[in-house]
Amino acid sequence: MELQDLYTKNDSLILENCTLCPRECHADRFKSQVGYCGMDAGMNISSVCIHRGEEPSISGRNGICNVFFAGCNLHCLFCQNHEISRPGTMIRNRVVDLNTAIDQIEKILSRGINTVGFVSPSHVVPQVKALIMALNSHGLKPITVYNTNSYDKYETIHDLSGLIDIYLPDYKYVTPELSSEFSDAFDYPQVALKAIKEMYYQKGSTLRTDENGQVENGLLIRHLVLPGHAEESKKVLRKIAEELSPGVHLSLMSQYHPTWEVREHSVLGRTLYKAEYEAVVEVMEDLGFRNGWVQDMDSHQNFQPDFSRESPFE
Ligand code: SF4
Repeated sequence: MELQDLYTKNDSLILENCTLCPRECHADRFKSQVGYCGMDAGMNISSVCIHRGEEPSISGRNGICNVFFAGCNLHCLFCQNHEISRPGTMIRNRVVDLNTAIDQIEKILSRGINTVGFVSPSHVVPQVKALIMALNSHGLKPITVYNTNSYDKYETIHDLSGLIDIYLPDYKYVTPELSSEFSDAFDYPQVALKAIKEMYYQKGSTLRTDENGQVENGLLIRHLVLPGHAEESKKVLRKIAEELSPGVHLSLMSQYHPTWEVREHSVLGRTLYKAEYEAVVEVMEDLGFRNGWVQDMDSHQNFQPDFSRESPFE
């Protein structure tokens, strides 16, 4: 089967002259031209594995089947998945074709797991759709999670309506200078807010759960508090409360851990201070957020993947 046949006509046209994400590189990804994300029109999967480290209601009792894509349309200085997200890293495309990916997902689903998460999908949305369609054609209808940095076009999210059960977007910054410095995307605050608003339009504030408390449908916004940037985090929370609602579900993360790339960075080279995190939690409570999760201060020890292993999180 030709690669083009995996995708809808419209998605093939987009990949041929790539304007999938806000970077709009116009690369022909079928001809192995690559744009900012560094990825062609193939599946670009680094790992399909069980992950138990998402929020308890997302992971459930048995964990979630996560599909980690290689490459990314943001180049965050502090990326916790830098082993697979950076251009030129060695540990990248392991699962290159659709059938292999489906086999691996099916094996994991047969172990009593019913949720499939697509991690860093913004530059591979046609591939995500192809995977969901292939699973459906095998008679499998897992709960689907779109786990995104939110540097997504509004149109992309609009187009995913009905295909995605759970949106799990980051909202990283509201200050363009900071998103430019740390993630090389000056327009991130406005682009991400627009994308998250569309997710909110589709899902509202309710997280629907099953009898075991595992999420089946809804929106959960994540925010990682960065060292030295508690004030930015407070602004992010205010923005969410004002532009969406303090009724949304929020995951306020303290798990930041400096990778070797930022070990010498003046601010990003350390973990978060307890006082910084607590100040943000206080604002979260003052703003009326009541739904969601906070983390322990030692969580940074538990969330460092090693993508050279078959099970990066085990
Ligand atoms: S998906 Fe990749 S190639 Fe396409 S516009 Fe975005 S960064 Fe560029």
